[in-house]
Amino acid sequence: MKVFKFGGASVKNPDAIRHVANILSNYKNEKLVIVVSAMGKTTNALEAILNAFYKKTGKAFDLLNELKEAHYQALSELFDQEDPIFDSINDTFVEIEWSIEEEPTETYDYLYDQIVSVGEFLSTKILAAYLNKIGTPTTWLDARDVISTDNTYREAQIDWKQTAEKMNKKVPVLLDNGFVLTQGFVGGTSENFTTTLGREGSDFTAAICSYCLDAESMSVWKDVPGILTADPRLFKNVVKIDRLSYREAIEMTYYGAKVIHPKTIKPLQNKNIPLFVKSFVTPESAGTMISDFIEQRYPPMVVVEKAQALLHVSRRDFSFVEEESLSELFAMFKKHRVRVNLMQNSAISFTICVHDVPERISKLLEALENDYKVVKDEGLELITVRHYNNNLINELKKNKMVLLEERIPKTIQLVMKDIPLMERI
Ligand code: ASP
Ligand code: MG
Repeated sequence: MKVFKFGGASVKNPDAIRHVANILSNYKNEKLVIVVSAMGKTTNALEAILNAFYKKTGKAFDLLNELKEAHYQALSELFDQEDPIFDSINDTFVEIEWSIEEEPTETYDYLYDQIVSVGEFLSTKILAAYLNKIGTPTTWLDARDVISTDNTYREAQIDWKQTAEKMNKKVPVLLDNGFVLTQGFVGGTSENFTTTLGREGSDFTAAICSYCLDAESMSVWKDVPGILTADPRLFKNVVKIDRLSYREAIEMTYYGAKVIHPKTIKPLQNKNIPLFVKSFVTPESAGTMISDFIEQRYPPMVVVEKAQALLHVSRRDFSFVEEESLSELFAMFKKHRVRVNLMQNSAISFTICVHDVPERISKLLEALENDYKVVKDEGLELITVRHYNNNLINELKKNKMVLLEERIPKTIQLVMKDIPLMERI
């Protein structure tokens, strides 16, 4: 049995849906679990609806109507007017209408998961109905019935034992009747509330399915030919990597390579399940294989993370920043969900590079205010290079100011800022 994952771009419009269905119809003889994201930019649109509702801008229903329009337009191109999918999609939208009818009383994160998860319910209902319509038998599976999580809304943690039990009870039986298609990104609590696994979490869902069902392999179908040595929108001379070890893939995604969700690789590595990153544009090409195979040499691989900040933390009582303060600081970072990307300490100061999520950072700074002085540098980028060489590093540093640099064998990390040009008066 294999697991396939299709992202939002692969189902963004009726042509894309037909194309995916076409790819899938070539696998009719295989047992396939298919994990699908929301169509195109639907997740962003749902976030905008939620924000409008939560901030009471009065625009929530207008935004919802736009999203409905887009989905109905796609439906009318793919199905006859009498097809039951119209009712089913309508019912799904009604759930959002109910949630945003009255004043918000629940927490933002809870509402987020109830509303934003709907994108995946819509896309999977549409694709499953279309596959059945063209004669590719497919069962639609509600991810909440098999992916068990705690109630950390927006970043739900998986209960692996329960998930494995539920999946093995349900999925193999369904696979006897054809494909099983389910939502990425979504889980459910023991009280039957919907949760989400974090943005771009559908890859992780596919890895959970692969791990729990002991898949032969997992494939992520994308609009790029495979894993590239850098983001082609930022660099020239980018090449595709044919094979990558789990370890390399974990390092790259952890430091921000957007090609796969960082949590995806570890469960696959634990069961030695190969991961293929393939192009849905050219489905016959090989893509990249991630496995336990270790290459002798890798080309330099560059990951750029924008929107970074450096926080320089020192104690107000002038004492050293040592174990006790450090453990207190880390507890605060965790509490405020501030992720540390890089750190460096000296006797009296501790510097961390973090994603600059303003609402989280400002709460963290408030909490530290009494005991710590914090100076913040903003507008930075963090560049991580695996398998670097000095020429490349010098190239990357051109016109940049390096605020923090860390080198370990095979990896260099640079926190940098554009050098402001001096203007003559
Ligand atoms: N639809 C969700 C998102 O855009 C999950 C995913 O695409 O993986 O973040
Ligand atoms: Mg997506």
